Amino acid sequence: MKKMGALILLMLLFSSCGAVTAIPEVPITMTTTSTTTTTMTTATTAAIITISTGAATTTGAAAAVSGSTTTRKPPNNAGSAYAYDYPGISPAVAAVPADPYLILVSRDYALPANYTPALRVCVESYPEKIQMESTAAKQYKAMYDAAKADGAELIPYSGYRSIERQKGNFERLVQTNVDRGHSYAEAVNLAAQVILPPGCSEHSAGLAMDITRPGVWDTSVSFESTKEFTWLQAHGHEYGFILRYPKDKFSLTQITYEPWHWRYVGVGPATAMKSSGQCLEEYLGVG
Ligand code: ZN
Repeated sequence: MKKMGALILLMLLFSSCGAVTAIPEVPITMTTTSTTTTTMTTATTAAIITISTGAATTTGAAAAVSGSTTTRKPPNNAGSAYAYDYPGISPAVAAVPADPYLILVSRDYALPANYTPALRVCVESYPEKIQMESTAAKQYKAMYDAAKADGAELIPYSGYRSIERQKGNFERLVQTNVDRGHSYAEAVNLAAQVILPPGCSEHSAGLAMDITRPGVWDTSVSFESTKEFTWLQAHGHEYGFILRYPKDKFSLTQITYEPWHWRYVGVGPATAMKSSGQCLEEYLGVG
C-alpha cells in the first residue's frame, strides 16, 4: 500500500495536460514505469501529417483520416466510435480539418486512435530531446532562437506524448482508484478529473508545448511573472503559437489557466487570435 500511495502521489504531481485543476505535467522523459517507454512504431501511419516548409503553408494530407472539411468548424461527430470504452467518457472523434494545425483536441474531441504526427526534436541542445510535430518543432526552434536573442530562454519541458502513453497513465490511475475501493465507473470519473483520457490531450497531436525557464524544472502559474512569459505574450503568435488556456476562457476550454502551455496553430490563425482576443474554440466557432 505504501507503494500505491507513492504512485498516487506521483500521478497527482505529474498528470497530463488538460486536468481540471492546474497540476504540473510530466515530460515523456520522466516516465515513472518501465512499461511506458514512448515509441512511434506501434501506430499505423494513416494519419501522419505530411506538410510543409513554412508556417503558413499546409496541405491537408491528414484530412483523409476521418473526413476533411474546408470550414473552420469541426463537424460534430457525436456518435462516432471513440476508440476506448470508459463509462461516462464519450468524446466525439475529431475530424482533422483541411488545415491540420487547427485540429481541436479537448475533453469533447478526441484524436483518431491511429493519429500519428511526424515528429522532430524541438531544440537539440537539451538532453531531454522533447519533440513536437515536425513543422511545429521547426517553428518552436525559430521562436526559441528569437527569444534567446532577446534574453529569454524558452526551455521545452513537455511536448509530444503518444496516445498509448496517455492511455497507460489514465488506466493506471483508474486501477489505483479501483484498488482504493471505488467502483469502476467511479474510478474512471475520478481519474478523468486529473488526467485527460487517451486521445483527448493536444500533446498527443504533437502541437502543444509546456514551457519552463532556466533553473525551474516544472510548470506552474508563477511562469506568468517571468520574462519568458512576457516574451511569449508579445511574440508567440509571430511563430504560430497561442496561449491555449487563458485565464478568462475556462468556460470554453474547460481547462484552468495554464501560462506554460502553448499550442501551435500556424502564424495566420495565431495572429488573428492574438488580435481578436479569441481562444481556439471561439476562433473555430465551437462552443
Ligand atoms: Zn500542456
